[in-house]
Amino acid sequence: MSDSKQYVIVGGGVAAVQAAKAIRDLDAAADITILGEENRLPYNRIKLTKGLFTDLHSDKVLIKKEKWYNDNRITLKSFARAVQLHMDRKLVETAEGEQIAYDKLLLCMGATNRALPVPGAGLKRVHSLRELQDADRLKAELCEGDRVAVIGGGVQGLETAWALHEGGYRVTVIEAAPRLMARQLDEASSERLRKALFSAGVELVLQRGIAAITGEETVQEIVLNDQTVIACEHVVYSIGIVPNTKLVQHTAIETGSGIIVSNCLETSEPDVYAAGDVAEIDGLVEGLWGAAMEQGRVAGHNMAAAEPEAYRRAVPVTLFNAFGVSLFSMGTIDEAQCDLTISEEENGIYTRLFVKDNTIIGAISWEGAAASLTYKAAIEQGVSLDGIDLQSSCLADVMAEVEARLQN
Ligand SMILES: Cc1cc2nc3c(=O)[nH]c(=O)nc-3n(C[C@H](O)[C@H](O)[C@H](O)COP(=O)(O)OP(=O)(O)OC[C@H]3O[C@@H](n4cnc5c(N)ncnc54)[C@H](O)[C@@H]3O)c2cc1C
Repeated sequence: MSDSKQYVIVGGGVAAVQAAKAIRDLDAAADITILGEENRLPYNRIKLTKGLFTDLHSDKVLIKKEKWYNDNRITLKSFARAVQLHMDRKLVETAEGEQIAYDKLLLCMGATNRALPVPGAGLKRVHSLRELQDADRLKAELCEGDRVAVIGGGVQGLETAWALHEGGYRVTVIEAAPRLMARQLDEASSERLRKALFSAGVELVLQRGIAAITGEETVQEIVLNDQTVIACEHVVYSIGIVPNTKLVQHTAIETGSGIIVSNCLETSEPDVYAAGDVAEIDGLVEGLWGAAMEQGRVAGHNMAAAEPEAYRRAVPVTLFNAFGVSLFSMGTIDEAQCDLTISEEENGIYTRLFVKDNTIIGAISWEGAAASLTYKAAIEQGVSLDGIDLQSSCLADVMAEVEARLQN
């Protein structure tokens, strides 16, 4: 038995990889094992929608190539599902019956897509994209029929709808809320986006839920709750996520909607940490790629370092590129939480700033991703807008002055 510390990480996503890297950076002798249920090297999950029809099996989709794990002496066990924790003996048990000892354990099991709670959801050709095999199956089955209903008008649903539309399929988007991307956009932007879908020829149904999916073995129709019928051969839904907490059920580890952790990513049990989509901090499961990366890094650091580091939530940013639209939304975009908002439309580009205590706390803009950096820095650094005449200046001048203040 070696004297080196045993670090075991459950889950083979981005949080796990960042954690392994942080541990290795601090502890050259550590034994690091990642147990991943999928039969793949950890990959960029975001590509499943953004690059649905690209080669998702390419090495370019991997977070790190195989050589990186070898060079860093990280044991990556694919197809290895952890099924039980024996915390009294500091052991993780896999579905194969292997028991792996740990000194420190990190739980990064991610999340599963929220199931569609309607009759017919189990029919063939009803899809949801979370894993690479889901995308493979969708693409294989798409060879029959060209009408696809996408349930969910959030970012992932719309990215999927765009990929399918570009792939030549006839797409109908169904959203239960009165408008698209309601969590990221104000009403004016949602309306502009609705028009972009219309111009692209994508059908949109708003403010109606799903009563049932019908068909013999495979999908034939979707019945909406006002009894409207939409004929389609495929359904893809994206209606939120549920953290994968099954492994810690019936253990002493505290859970809420996710595994509850402190801002140092510690669970309620000693030497057990959690990070990424499975973790809940201050009542929130972030469910974002950037957050999972940073939580993984901080968790790994805290597992191996003498001095713990606190996780700091970054300004949430959504970049959206679909339907000929390139927009970003960031920070707090809730009017109720602002003192004032300023909006402007210049040369077809809509921008709105959300201001509180004379600082920008949120922004929505159709300027494209490159422009987002100044807004993000202004929000993160709390740049003061004192002395800027917000009522009569144009937004370009406001942002030029903000940029100048960021440089100083
Ligand atoms: C299609 C899609 C598009 C997305 N687009 C965006 C986007 O544009 N922007 C953004 O910020 N975020 C996006 N996200 C969310 C982002 O991908 C996640 O926040 C991120 O992947 C979370 O990383 P994670 O490591 O916590 O978990 P995951 O990436 O979910 O990885 C967890 C891994 O653990 C494995 N696992 C689960 N249970 C066990 C077990 N018991 N034993 C072993 N292994 C187990 C799972 O199979 C999985 O491989 C998207 C997600 C999806 C699915």
